[in-house]
Amino acid sequence: MRETARKAHGEPLAAAECLPGLGEKLLSWFEQNKRVLPFRTDPTPYHVWVSEIMLQQTRVSAALPYYERFIRTLPDVPALAACPPEQLNKLWEGLGYYSRVRNMQKAAKVVCEEYGGALPADYEALLALPGIGEYTAGAIGSISFGLRVPAVDGNVLRVFARLYDDEGYITDPKVKQEFTRRVMAHQPPGAPGDYNQALMELGALVCLPGGEPLCGECPLAALCRGRASGRARELPRKAPPKARRVQPVTVFLLRSPEGWLLQRRPAEGLLAGLYQPFALEGQRLESAGEAAAALARLGLEGASLPQPLPAAKHLFSHIEWQMTGWKAELPAQRAPEGCLWADEEALRQQYALPGAFKAYKKRMGI
Ligand code: SF4
Repeated sequence: MRETARKAHGEPLAAAECLPGLGEKLLSWFEQNKRVLPFRTDPTPYHVWVSEIMLQQTRVSAALPYYERFIRTLPDVPALAACPPEQLNKLWEGLGYYSRVRNMQKAAKVVCEEYGGALPADYEALLALPGIGEYTAGAIGSISFGLRVPAVDGNVLRVFARLYDDEGYITDPKVKQEFTRRVMAHQPPGAPGDYNQALMELGALVCLPGGEPLCGECPLAALCRGRASGRARELPRKAPPKARRVQPVTVFLLRSPEGWLLQRRPAEGLLAGLYQPFALEGQRLESAGEAAAALARLGLEGASLPQPLPAAKHLFSHIEWQMTGWKAELPAQRAPEGCLWADEEALRQQYALPGAFKAYKKRMGI
């Protein structure tokens, strides 16, 4: 078992760390207040897996239509394993972080080859699959298989930081390990899945991020040290984020009678393998002359004088794109290497353009 989960087991809490009745109070609140969600109504390992991966960066209400469409189109692990990559990207379009769904497909292939198409009921085996970390393995393991394992996400860390009035940086692996130990010490043996979900649900509905927690509605209020000290709102603490690397990008919206020019990104790295409007990374072309010269270097002929588009910005976790844009019309011609022309129907049905280009996508009619 991986370090965090392994250390979470079998270590009783010191008396000062005990919050008596936490598990029972939480389960009883969950029973009465839990949201009815499709992956809760039918919590197969596949359903829990898909939902947890989607919910990593997306709120439940926003993720639900994506979840339902995904499960309708790809109802099980073998269907996910066999899905053509473009269709898979299209199902994920709007959720972002496409590496998540690519890793899901890699994992689905492993599950088909090694486990006959059914996710294994084993925490370590789940952890060994591509894209499945401790939290997701814990969620699938506890909710679908009833395993006594933790599932500690940002919601749970926030709740425990406040419950214990603990100022440790939750971004520090040692602090996370310590919180996980406390989470597990309060986990009722007969209900690991409900307990884990109840903690997440409390964090999502009551012990809210980024504002005043709803302590008046909280089943754990009497136990909560952060509430007693008046510091709950200031918790949890995180280490200051590292500065993002700024990267200039020039985006070209180029249209010929055959459609818009799309460029496929490299198979590895940022937004790997996705199609995008043609773009030059590492440079911001500020004049129409520079933009026209760049088109000529690409071998694109007969372009109209490029017209400027508004500047835009997109934040990735470690990079900030500062984009400038140009638009031009071209006569019919071969697309440069690594590119293709896509008409509006193909743009809507076939190609998933990353959200980083949101400011420019609407100018392409999508
Ligand atoms: S009492 Fe308030 S701060 Fe404490 S866990 Fe409940 S909602 Fe969070």
